[in-house]
This record gives sequence, C-alpha cells and structure tokens, in this order.
Amino acid sequence: MKIVLAEHLGMCFGVKDAVALALETARREPLTILGDLVHNETVVAELRARGIRVAQQPADINTQTVMVTAHGASERAMNETRGRGLNVVEATCPLVHVAHRAVAQLVREGFHPVIIGKRDHVEMRGLTGDLAAFGVVLFEEDVAKLGERPRFGVVAQTTQPIDRVRWLVGLIRNRFPESEVRFVDTVCQPTKQRQNAAIELAQKCDAVVVIGGTHSNNTHELVKTCSRFCARVHHVRTADDLREDWFVRAETVGITAGTSTPDVVIAGVELWLKNFAARRAVQTNQTKEIRELAFHDA
Ligand code: SF4
Repeated sequence: MKIVLAEHLGMCFGVKDAVALALETARREPLTILGDLVHNETVVAELRARGIRVAQQPADINTQTVMVTAHGASERAMNETRGRGLNVVEATCPLVHVAHRAVAQLVREGFHPVIIGKRDHVEMRGLTGDLAAFGVVLFEEDVAKLGERPRFGVVAQTTQPIDRVRWLVGLIRNRFPESEVRFVDTVCQPTKQRQNAAIELAQKCDAVVVIGGTHSNNTHELVKTCSRFCARVHHVRTADDLREDWFVRAETVGITAGTSTPDVVIAGVELWLKNFAARRAVQTNQTKEIRELAFHDA
C-alpha cells in the first residue's frame, strides 16, 4: 500500500503565528483566549495544558489580558472588551484583515456587502459585526432570499472553496442582471493551495484520510472536495480515529489536513498507515508463500 501526502496540507502560517503569539503572551502574563484560537482539539488541549484559559463568552474572561483568535473579531467586539478595562492581544491572521478591509472599502464605495460563508462561524461574526446591513450566502436558496440592491459588494470567508464562491457570485449576477456586482476574492492562498492539492490527491488515491478538528470549517471543505473525486474519504481528528477496514484492498492512500492541524498529528497518522501497510505486506507475502507451498505439494 502506497501512502501519499498532499502537496500542501496542514497548519497555515496564520495559525502557526497565532499559536506562537498565545504561548509567548502566556509566558509573560495570565491569558484568556476568547473562543477557540484554532478549530483543532489537539492544539486547544495543548494551550490549556500550558495554563492558557479559553472563554467562549466575554463574561467568562477572568484575566486582564484577552486574545482575539486567528479568525478575527469586529471592532465593536474589541472595543467592548477594551471598554471593560481588558488588554486585547490580536492574533487575527493578516489574510482575515485583508477580508475586513475589503468589506469596509466596498461599504465606503456604496456597495451592499454580501459575504459568502457560514453565518455562525467566528470569522463571519467578525466580518459582519461592524456592518449596519449585510447579506450572508452559502447555498443557492440564500441567493434567492437576497433583496434587490443597485450595487452588491461580494467577499468570502477566507476558508471557503473558491469554486463554490465563484459559483455563488455567478448566481448573484444572474439573479440581479440590472445590479452592479463587484466581487473581491478574499479566499486565502493557503486554503486555495490545500483545496487544489486535495483535488490532485483524491484523483489518484483509492482512499483519502483528511485530518482536522471536528469544528474546522476548512477541514470539512477538504472532505467535501475529496469526496467529489474519491469514494473512500475519512475524516479523523488524530491517528486514534483510524480503522483498518477503511483500507481493505486500497493500493494508494492519500493524506491531507486542515489549516489548523499540527504537523505532529499528521506524522502520527502517516506512521499508523505505514505500520498498517507493513503488516499487510507481511500478511500478503505469507499468504502467497502458503499458496506456493500448497501448489508444490499438489
Ligand atoms: S486559513 Fe487562511 S485566513 Fe485562516 S489563518 Fe490560515 S492563512 Fe489565515
């Protein structure tokens, strides 16, 4: 059994920098992270083990310093936190800042902002939190619900697959042929690279393992993308979730991982598969030898 890694996979620079900033800050002073810094259970558990607290609600913050996650936050939310006398450390990824600036620019130019993404995702709350009016679309039916406007300014959550984003922009343009629809591509480069690499990988594999947190949006998107090209796609958080029966008769198994999956977790999955492949090779050779012996004895 051959094991192939996607050309681009795993933790992006935005997540790596955010984790490093959290660890560095926590060495100096007690730190609370507002929401999961990244959507990966392994990383969050490691941060907690270093004494970093995680609060899901501002009311639960009980340290002087609070960190905004890599997914960013609205100015309003940050000002409210500062208004409570807390120090805010921003771990917002620079590419999320790009999306924030794109929305602000479109609004300044008189466009009605429409954001392609998951309404309840933390990045979306940050992107929409300062807006007086906006639309959110993820499916065709969301486009059908948009009211007519003379000018639409469309951006995307950074981790949305670019194919879906372009398709939705096309639907908006078709639905409102009289309106001006300006699209600013805010899908981040690491997401695009991982999506493209996942397509290449899934096309040449009998089974694909996608590694990432249960709540990781970009991991779920990788699963969906791989499933378009490969019938056996399995989402795992760590090597502990792997099952041998997933790889029966698979000759090539691919590995990809979401942007918040640490290298050590990917290495664990790769090692598990290599060990499995080695055991299977031994079993196959033994079966072959037994058959050959039986043939000679006959
Ligand atoms: S997925 Fe993209 S936007 Fe999000 S942290 Fe990584 S590089 Fe930044």
